[in-house]
This record gives sequence, C-alpha cells and structure tokens, in this order.
Amino acid sequence: MTAPLDLLDLDPSLTDEERQIRDVVRQLVDDRVRPHVADWYEQGQVPARELAREFGKLGLLGMHLTGYGCAGASAVAYGLACQELEAGDSGLRSLVSVQGSLAMYAIWRYGSEEQKQRWLPSMATGEAIGCFGLTEPDHGSDPASMTTRARRDGGDWVLTGAKMWITNAPIADVAVIWARTDEGVRGFVVPMDTPGVTAREIRRKMSLRASVTGEIALDDVRLPADARLPEASGLKAPLSCLTEARYGIVWGAVGAARDCLETTLAYAGTRTQFGRPLAGFQLTQAKLADMAVELVKGQLLALHLGRLADAHRLRPDQVSVGKLNNVREALAIARQCRTILGANGVSGEYPIMRHANNLESVLTYEGTSEIHQLVVGQRLTGLSAFA
Ligand SMILES: Cc1cc2nc3c(=O)[nH]c(=O)nc-3n(C[C@H](O)[C@H](O)[C@H](O)COP(=O)(O)OP(=O)(O)OC[C@H]3O[C@@H](n4cnc5c(N)ncnc54)[C@H](O)[C@@H]3O)c2cc1C
Repeated sequence: MTAPLDLLDLDPSLTDEERQIRDVVRQLVDDRVRPHVADWYEQGQVPARELAREFGKLGLLGMHLTGYGCAGASAVAYGLACQELEAGDSGLRSLVSVQGSLAMYAIWRYGSEEQKQRWLPSMATGEAIGCFGLTEPDHGSDPASMTTRARRDGGDWVLTGAKMWITNAPIADVAVIWARTDEGVRGFVVPMDTPGVTAREIRRKMSLRASVTGEIALDDVRLPADARLPEASGLKAPLSCLTEARYGIVWGAVGAARDCLETTLAYAGTRTQFGRPLAGFQLTQAKLADMAVELVKGQLLALHLGRLADAHRLRPDQVSVGKLNNVREALAIARQCRTILGANGVSGEYPIMRHANNLESVLTYEGTSEIHQLVVGQRLTGLSAFA
C-alpha cells in the first residue's frame, strides 16, 4: 500500500524481496497498462498474448508454482503481484489468475510428467495460453450437476458438452476441461486445435471488458487416453484449483479498491466547491476515513491469509472469508469513490467506474458471495445449506 493509505504501517511487515516484487509489478502496470487500459476497456479488446509474454518474462505466470520454468515465489509475493495487477485492471489479474492458478496449477498438481513437460514451461513464458472450463450454460454455482460427458471409446476418451463464461477461451492454446465420466468428475488437458473444439467469444460484457471471455463447444472431441489428468479424481480437484485462484482475488480486489481510493484522494484534494477542496468537507472525510479503514482491514486479511498459505496452514473456508470480505468491500469502496468524483466518477477518464464494473464480475466468479457465505456458514454451524 502506498502512503498515506498505509494507515497501519503494513509496508515494513513485508520482506525486502516481497517489496521488490511488488514494486516491479507496480512499475510494469504503470508503464504498460495504465496508459492504455481505458481504451482496451472501451473497445473491449486487449492485447492479451502480448501482455502474457511480458508477464511471463517477469515470472508472473504460475508464479507460486515450482519447477518447469515457474518462479517458485511465496504466496505473499504472488498476492502482492495480484494486488498490483488488479490496481491496473481486474481483467489483467484475471489473465494471470486463470493462467497460473487455474490452468497451470491443475496441470502442475494433477498432471502426468509428460503433461507438465509439454505445457508448463511454455505457459510460464506466456507463449502458450491456458483456460479452465468448469462452468456450463446451465451449471454455475453447482458444478456437481455438470452435463459435459467424457466416455471411453477403446483407448480414447470422447468429450461432449459445452462450457460457458470461460476466461481466455477464444485465445487459448489449451483448456483444462472438467467432465463427468462413469467414475465421477475427471479433468482433461485439451489442445484447443483438437477437432470438435470450438470457442466463441462472449460479447457485450459490461464488466471485465479488458479480458477475453468465451464459450467452448465440445462436439465428440476425441482425445488419447493420456489426455486425462491422472491425479484428479472427483470435484475436489477443480475446487482445489479454485481455492488457489480465489486466494489471488483476495489480494487483487484490494488493489482495485486502492486505485479507486488513491484517485479519489487526489481528486478531492484539488476539486473545489463552495470555495474549498472537497477533501475539506467533513462528509467527504467521513467517507474517505471509512473507506481507508476498510482498505487496510482487507490488506491485513490478505496478508494474514498469505502468511498462513506460506506456512501451509491455509484452509479453503479461510479463503472464502477473504474473498467474501475483500471483494464486497472493494466494490463498496469503488461505488463510494464514484460519488466523490461526481459526474467525473462515471467517466472513463478516471478508473473508478471501470473498477466498479469489473468488481461486479469478481463478486460472481470463483464462487459468488452467496456461495462463500454458505462455506463460512457451514464452518460455523457444521450444517451444509447448499441444497
Ligand atoms: C467474466 C467472467 C469470467 C469467468 N471465467 C470463468 C472461467 O474461466 N472458468 C469457469 O469455469 N467459469 C468462469 N466464470 C463463471 C463463474 O464462475 C460463474 O458465473 C459463477 O460460478 C456463478 O455461476 P452462474 O453465473 O451460473 O450463476 P448461478 O449459479 O446461476 O447463480 C445465480 C445466483 O444464485 C445464487 N445461488 C446459487 N446457488 C445458491 C444457493 N445454493 N444458495 C443461495 N444462493 C445461490 C448465486 O449466488 C447467484 O447470486 C466466469 C464468469 C464471469 C462473469
């Protein structure tokens, strides 16, 4: 966090290496993202491949994984990178999350040695782009009901079905697809040029416009036996990948909120009404104070979860606490900041409405807030209220 928003002096509790990684990513965002992101957003087009290669050069793809060209960074360092990326735009953090925490993690954690050698090094450099297909047109929060099927045919697998709302799908080289088999849910590594695979871009999104989202149709897609992720058995496998990605969101959302608040502080300090800066009004200061308190609480929460992750003690329900709180509060901060900018708050000349719109998607994907409430509720009561 940057002064004066670092109300609790959190900066010194980071290691030199963590601060260094954060500063490098912040610089990259300042140089490569900020000057262009409003246009990418407005046009609904982002040079994702080019950016992936640049992110790859800095070791941001599969950053917290080890071997196969991955950086092997700590969970806190990865979180700090997510925070800086999302301070630029949630779409860019999504690119990095889906590549590293969903597609690469699935292969790294559940893949065969051949699958890892084939895909991870090129995904780490950003030469190959991955996506993760769990959600279907009729099954979002309840992936256990998925209807995408994988059936055996001799030594092959044949996949049929559809995946919806898949980040990076239209530009991906490879998809990790989750499908129902006679033995339960299994994962498959599917090159996107396999006959029978088609990806169509989802247009007219009003959120995450600097991120490519698509629909994948799987029409009798024939795959060799070794396309299956051998170590993935049941729904707990994709859910473990989601826990990885949700962890990045806990940090990322704070980044978007910080960018809103920094913008607003600067604006309120210079915009004058009734003969004094907006920042001098008590009502404005009350808003600023409340937002800064929520921001630093979110930051503390993210750091705490990161330290737990680095000590291998982080539980999925704790990640739910972080995702639920930090995305909800980031969205509230973005909306409140917008009021302080008045009409300028709705303008693309400022980042606030873009962040607010992005955070609507972030609130929904990787488990909606309601689903995270149910996870926390189950932890508290011992009762599952999902169905
Ligand atoms: C921009 C974007 C990118 C995405 N990228 C990916 C991706 O890369 N890969 C992927 O697999 N998916 C992706 N998704 C999909 C995302 O994960 C789903 O949208 C999400 O899981 C919610 O599913 P749904 O949209 O079908 O909503 P639904 O499940 O239909 O839910 C609708 C509403 O009902 C509520 N609800 C559902 N069940 C319950 C319940 N038991 N109790 C109380 N309330 C409930 C939900 O909380 C929500 O408010 C993406 C989504 C977006 C918007």
